Amino acid sequence: MTCALWLRGDLRLSDHAGFALMSQQTEPWVAFFNLDPSLAHALTPHKRTYLMSALGDLDERLSGGLSLLSVDPVTALPGIFARYGIDTVYTHGSVGPGMRRQLNRAAKAFRNQGITLEALDTAYAVPPGTLRVQGPSASDAPVAQGYRVYTPFYRAWRPLALGTEPIEAPLTIPPERITRDFTLGTPTEAGGERVAHADLERFLHERRTRYRSDRDFPDRAATSALSTHLHFGTLHPRTIIAALGPDDEKFLAELAWREFYADVLHHHPSATTTELDPRFRSMQWRQDDDEPELLAAWKQGRTGYPLVDAGMRELRATHLMHNRVRMVTASFLIKDLHFDWRIGARYFEEQLLDGDLASNRMNWQWVAGTGTDAAPYFRVFNPILQSKKFDPDGNYIRRWVPELAGLSADAIHAPFEHLDPTSIDYATPIVDHRIERQITLARYEVAKRSD
Ligand SMILES: Cc1cc2nc3c(=O)[nH]c(=O)nc-3n(C[C@H](O)[C@H](O)[C@H](O)COP(=O)(O)OP(=O)(O)OC[C@H]3O[C@@H](n4cnc5c(N)ncnc54)[C@H](O)[C@@H]3O)c2cc1C
Repeated sequence: MTCALWLRGDLRLSDHAGFALMSQQTEPWVAFFNLDPSLAHALTPHKRTYLMSALGDLDERLSGGLSLLSVDPVTALPGIFARYGIDTVYTHGSVGPGMRRQLNRAAKAFRNQGITLEALDTAYAVPPGTLRVQGPSASDAPVAQGYRVYTPFYRAWRPLALGTEPIEAPLTIPPERITRDFTLGTPTEAGGERVAHADLERFLHERRTRYRSDRDFPDRAATSALSTHLHFGTLHPRTIIAALGPDDEKFLAELAWREFYADVLHHHPSATTTELDPRFRSMQWRQDDDEPELLAAWKQGRTGYPLVDAGMRELRATHLMHNRVRMVTASFLIKDLHFDWRIGARYFEEQLLDGDLASNRMNWQWVAGTGTDAAPYFRVFNPILQSKKFDPDGNYIRRWVPELAGLSADAIHAPFEHLDPTSIDYATPIVDHRIERQITLARYEVAKRSD
């Protein structure tokens, strides 16, 4: 036995560079997933459910040949490889700084034992770090660096992404199972490659034609629901892009946001915790202990702003939230309640099934106006106007805030403006949006001036 495939965020058989390489093997080989005990805390129960289902699905496809480990990769994996005569390990590249560090440490430990670790692919159509733009340097000589603005990134990314083809290569011999440190149940609808392909088919046949017009309306079920599959790697973006046509430009552009943010994180690993725009690093934000009851009201969907509350309750119930409502709820935390965007980002990561470091942190920075693009820091989402525009009949609110189900489309977006608050069992607004907006604008101006 000579080689092994270390599966990490790439839990599928199709369109997989590692399995394609293994299809050429004539010797026994190993495919394994390692549930790193030191990262177990980050695996929330809903993510764990998806993961187990995805591993079960993959194991079935591999005729029960998936090996399952639960060890420290740096200290324990080299010994296991030595025991089975494995001298070459293939895996895929990561963008998150923590995962990159861990992979580098593992590679070093493997090297010390004469074992090679090679990254074959990434979870992106165009690997982060591929695209470069000429930018200024300290010495005024232009240097190649990553894109900081989405539109030129998209222009450069698009031909490369459309030029990629899914990698298909049926396995001739299944992997040799070496060990099972934990058991797998049968795959369920909770997740995995089978579910990912079914969701892709549903999007292509039922939703894509109305994606452009309806994608911003949270009660219209017009989006793909593919983000979780992309996060776990049960579907590769190459497979999605190959199924798109000329009318799917808007959808392609959304996939490109995911790739853009991964590219930004590749070039700026500190952007998970530090404002990309240095002007705003001095901003004073509320922290967890400041006004904890306001933070709790946001988390629990009790702010008195129906669209914000509907989104936060959808998040707790389904571990997902519609994109438009993610923007509105994030803006409310940052610009109406003045909390640190990192607190919101952490809470989303705890809750979201598709919670992904690059997409989540960069979107939070975008809402805060501290990140890439010229995301205007002075744009403050009005939760009532957003509600009227994107949930005009109030059906999304009725679904998630049942106390308001009986209200008319006119009253439901701002019940406190229409009704006696004692007549319904619903929170009165915890802050006045008009006042908080002014406070936010003043705070940002001060930060800008003091830079
Ligand atoms: C504050 C905030 C936090 C977010 N956190 C995450 C996160 O942790 N993980 C995540 O995958 N997305 C995140 N998003 C982006 C977006 O909300 C989700 O990707 C989208 O709602 C997923 O639903 P969908 O698959 O039906 O999207 P669709 O509209 O069908 O889009 C197709 C795919 O394009 C990508 N995409 C679409 N919009 C964005 C975007 N703004 N940024 C990056 N990729 C995008 C996703 O991969 C998505 O699956 C966040 C957005 C905001 C505003």
